[in-house]
Amino acid sequence: MATAKLLLLVLAATSCCGAGAWELRGGLRKMPPAVEAAAERLREDVAAPVIHALRPLVGSAGDLAGVPCDSWRLAVEAHNKIDWATVPASCEGYVGNYMFGGHYRRDSRFVVDEAIAYAEGLKLGGNGKEVWVFDIDETSLSNLPYYAKHGFGTKPYNATSFNAYVLEGSAPVLPETQRLFKKLISLGIKPVFLTGRTEDQRAITVANLRRQGYSGWMKLLLKPVGLKASAVAYKSDERRKLQDAGYLIVGNIGDQWSDILGAPEGARTFKLPDPLYYIG
Ligand SMILES: [Mg+2]
Repeated sequence: MATAKLLLLVLAATSCCGAGAWELRGGLRKMPPAVEAAAERLREDVAAPVIHALRPLVGSAGDLAGVPCDSWRLAVEAHNKIDWATVPASCEGYVGNYMFGGHYRRDSRFVVDEAIAYAEGLKLGGNGKEVWVFDIDETSLSNLPYYAKHGFGTKPYNATSFNAYVLEGSAPVLPETQRLFKKLISLGIKPVFLTGRTEDQRAITVANLRRQGYSGWMKLLLKPVGLKASAVAYKSDERRKLQDAGYLIVGNIGDQWSDILGAPEGARTFKLPDPLYYIG
C-alpha cells in the first residue's frame, strides 16, 4: 500500500512539473527536495510495519512468560525490575525497534527538555560552584552500534568485546544530552563526567568525547582500575568528594538508576531510557 503511494507520488511529481523539475546529477536523477522528503517519510512507513511484524508481543523467558515487552521495558525504567542480566530473547526485535524507530530519541528528548527547563529556572550563586554530573555510556555517548551487533542486550555481557569497542573511540554522541551539556555551559553550570569506565580508558574516552563535539567539561572522573565498589557506592563517593570540595551538584543525569541513587544524588536527577542493560 505504502509502496503504491510512493509510486503515485513519483508519477505525480513527473506529470505535474515536467522534466524541468528533475535534475540530472552524476548521471542519476534527483528528486526535488519536497518530493524527496515525502518519499523518505513513505520509506519509513514501508519499513515500520516490517519492524513491527518482527516485534514479539509476548515475552517467553522465565518469569516473563505472558508479559509483553513494553511492560517489561516500563518495569525496567521504573526500577521495578532490577538485577537483570539480559534482555529477554523474545524482546530483541522490540528493543531494536524501540532504539532505532524514533521512540528512544523521543523519550530522551522529553527528559532533556525537562532538565533544561529546570536548569533555566535555577538561581545561581555567582561563585561558579554549580556543577552538573553526566554519566557517559548511553548518556553522553551511545554504544548502540555495538549493541545492534550483539542482539540488543539479549546476549550476556562480554567485557572483552565491549572494551575492544570502547577502545575504538567511535561511539556516537547522544544529541539530546549534548544539547543539555551545551545549554548548561551557556548558563554557567559546569559539567562533570562521572563514569564507570576505568582510568586506563581516559585517553580514548577524552578523544571520543572531543570527536563527538564535547568540550569545556570541568572534570572527567573515571573509576580506578581494580576498584571493587558497586556503581552506586563508587559514584556517590565521587559526588560526595565534589560536594566536600565546595561544589553544589544542581543536577545529575544518567541512563542507570545506579547513576542517580546514593547520597548525595544531586538537587535533581534525570533518568534517560536504557532497555539494553542493567548496572547495579
Ligand atoms: Mg551509562
